[in-house]
Amino acid sequence: MKVLTVIGNRPQFVKAAAVSGVLRAAHEEVLVHTGQHYDDELSTVFVQELGVPRPEHELGIGGGSNTEQTARMLAELGPLLGRERPDVLLVYGDTNSTLAGGLAAAQARVPVAHVEAGMRSFDRAMPEELNRVLTDHLSDLLLCPTPVAVENLEREHVAGRVELVGDVMVDVAELVRPRAAGDDGPLREAGVEPGGYLLATAHRAGNVDDPARLARLVEVLRAPELPVVLPLHPRTRARLEAAGLLGALTDGGRVRVLPPLGYVAFTALLTRAAGVLTDSGGVQKEAYLAGVRCVTLRDSTEWVETVDAGWNTLVDLDAERALAALAAPLPAARPDLYGDGRAGARVVAALGALAG
Ligand code: UDP
Repeated sequence: MKVLTVIGNRPQFVKAAAVSGVLRAAHEEVLVHTGQHYDDELSTVFVQELGVPRPEHELGIGGGSNTEQTARMLAELGPLLGRERPDVLLVYGDTNSTLAGGLAAAQARVPVAHVEAGMRSFDRAMPEELNRVLTDHLSDLLLCPTPVAVENLEREHVAGRVELVGDVMVDVAELVRPRAAGDDGPLREAGVEPGGYLLATAHRAGNVDDPARLARLVEVLRAPELPVVLPLHPRTRARLEAAGLLGALTDGGRVRVLPPLGYVAFTALLTRAAGVLTDSGGVQKEAYLAGVRCVTLRDSTEWVETVDAGWNTLVDLDAERALAALAAPLPAARPDLYGDGRAGARVVAALGALAG
């Protein structure tokens, strides 16, 4: 079986780390990097650190609006599929690269497999939600991380086959945790002690593109008493600089801005934080897996189980609600919501069955 995998941004490199190795042990994989994230810190670091294979094709398509970017990807991926003639196309998550890969393959009559299918925030204002819903409806194989995702897809009557495989990010988190546990460097660099700081990430368009929302984000990040370590996404840095807010954010030294980190360094900080403030999807889940409280800077999430379990609170950009959530007691139980850390192998088995 020949699988053409399309990835393009940071979380997709992380997810591919769970699948590509297992896949290549038994099958042929051609990895395409669209270039949606072209900074090394958001892409190639994962090739070195997590053993993601070096992409066979780099399309170099970054920047522009979502519409332009998706259209340019489609224009490149169509002919590429014609040349490579894969048996299956594999995509992950909810980005422009996911939708472009899925649509190009569906139009070329190549079966599409979607990992992380079925998650829903039900917020159609988010580009990620549109990408995920559309990709689900053109996929032949929908690989779900949770039973909630399976239910969502059944309700939507998707055309493809739905399978519960667990979450591939659990595979990666479990693999890396021992390495991260011995890595004190990132804490030293940030000048923080285990349990004595919060870790923050923010980059969603809805939080950083509008200057009024961005100012509220700065307020939320400055509100806690504990130091806040912020590995700053390039998109957010650019918006803060353009709005003249970077100085206000770091003024007083409580918010410690770092460059975007590799996965091991980020995990080292996450697992020893007193709490996490984030608008990322993956980080909400990783906080849960590590038993760290999460305060989500959005008013909806596709990772609803973490909220239902009491480990994650949605506060949007409300500083008071964020402080209240950080002070609330944590639940005693933390059930296994996202599978057993062997999702990668199940994905590969399901792909094999699809290719027949
Ligand atoms: N991450 C990382 N370094 C950082 C920040 C995040 O390696 O400085 C990882 C994080 O552990 C998670 C993924 O990147 O696995 C999340 O990516 P992002 O927040 O960009 O995307 P989202 O999950 O929101 O789609």
